[in-house]
Amino acid sequence: MHTPQYEFLSGAETHYFESPERREAILNFLRSHPDMFEVTEYFEDFGYQPIKRVHKKDFLEYLETAYEEWIAEGGHPNGVLPATIPHHKLARLGRLKASNCLAKSGQYCFDLSAVITKNTFKSAWNAAQITLTAAKELVRIGEEYEMNVTDGSSRENPPGLYALVRPPGHHAQSDLCGGYCFLNNVAIATQWLIDQPELKRKDGGLKKIVILDIDFHHGNGTQEIFYTTSNPLYISLHSDDDYPYFTGSEIERGEGEGLGFNINLPLPKATTDDDYVEALEKLIQEHIIPYKADYVIVSLGVDTFKDDPIAGFLVTSEGYPRIGNAIRKIGLPTLFVQEGGYCIEMLGINVGGILSGFLGRA
Ligand SMILES: [Zn+2]
Repeated sequence: MHTPQYEFLSGAETHYFESPERREAILNFLRSHPDMFEVTEYFEDFGYQPIKRVHKKDFLEYLETAYEEWIAEGGHPNGVLPATIPHHKLARLGRLKASNCLAKSGQYCFDLSAVITKNTFKSAWNAAQITLTAAKELVRIGEEYEMNVTDGSSRENPPGLYALVRPPGHHAQSDLCGGYCFLNNVAIATQWLIDQPELKRKDGGLKKIVILDIDFHHGNGTQEIFYTTSNPLYISLHSDDDYPYFTGSEIERGEGEGLGFNINLPLPKATTDDDYVEALEKLIQEHIIPYKADYVIVSLGVDTFKDDPIAGFLVTSEGYPRIGNAIRKIGLPTLFVQEGGYCIEMLGINVGGILSGFLGRA
């Protein structure tokens, strides 16, 4: 439903990297390993409410109606793309009133990669609903797990789920699309879990969530959405000095109640399997374990892969099971949600590597 024909990279028109083939590649891999993965296409529709908890009303209205308006205004059928984005030096003059779709596309988007086509909103909606369905299932398997732990079983075999969704979400802010992202699937599912009145810890408090973002790029959207809150704890490992360029530094630590609950760890481009796993294990020991969360939600990007066409550290296919295994050792019910990863040939193996590592089956 969401298949833009092209995007612009380094000034050149190129095919749209965030393509439907990504889903096919991952799905084929999972289906070919039925001993490890149970695949279901079932999902529930949770309606608008959980999406509105994260995204602003006017932004959602824009996403839903943009393509129709764009075409009516004579826009190119490839989809909605901005021409003018309100740079802060423009916007500070106080004139931020977009009356037509071309202007709105700049107001609600921060780059040239989030092309809105005819069914983009429906596609992003479904991705959010699939992630919410997985979050609901996470509660169920989490309760089962807790019961077993109370009965004396160890925390060494945590249960997990994976939501195979696109478009991805972690760049989508409360009222901005960008970075191939429209609705922030992970943020929507996280907020939904926090909002469930019957979901309480033994001490009566709300369930606590860690979002672990292992995509190559900084999750500026998730950071913005939860910047002023202490739940969830947002942790991102990503490339230094790369897209989205203007966020992701270590000095962005949260604000107000959220101060200290936003942790960015930029890594150099030359990061290897060993470097990555070492950095991840350190974050787990120093930040994730002490936070004492109830659930982990992983923004799972494999554009950290050495041969990724638009990104990449030096991480190899042998590194991914080790990353999955490090996450397993946190010992908590975990929901993995697909974000980036564009090396189609290795996408299934790399995503499958993380998941099998998490299952202790690599
Ligand atoms: Zn990415």
